[in-house]
Amino acid sequence: MTPDAFIEFASEFYGNCVAIMQAKNSDYSPDDVTLGEVLETACDLHITVQQALGVHLRKHWSALVTHLDGKRPLRSESVDNRLHDAANYLALVCLWERAHTTVIDAMRGVVSARPCECHLHPPEDPLRAMSGGPPGLVLVVCRRCLLIGYLDLLSTL
Ligand SMILES: [Zn+2]
Repeated sequence: MTPDAFIEFASEFYGNCVAIMQAKNSDYSPDDVTLGEVLETACDLHITVQQALGVHLRKHWSALVTHLDGKRPLRSESVDNRLHDAANYLALVCLWERAHTTVIDAMRGVVSARPCECHLHPPEDPLRAMSGGPPGLVLVVCRRCLLIGYLDLLSTL
């Protein structure tokens, strides 16, 4: 294959990546924020966005390596699908590296519009509740406010 033919091949490969990205847009970008789902996962699991992206990449990478080593054929997805998904996750890593501030700001706008469900709750310990002292209510911070706090933390890094 000549270099020109390879460039044509690569253009087709990347074109397929973009087509898959468009088809899976709602998975990659709920609430119309690219990386929004990854941000929510990272917040829920108390990990960094890079670690969350690494989990997704590793899934595709390890399946591909196992297949390339001839240890096991890919069953759930074709090799092409795995390659395209891995390339798309690399594009998301690149987006995070280059424009995380923009992503954080977009996500903050979406999350801030959600209703706050923080509330005070009696303590779970019945002995404490019966102690006769002040009720000692516990503040339960809602998912929205946890996510805003996570985004604020990311903004300082
Ligand atoms: Zn709240």
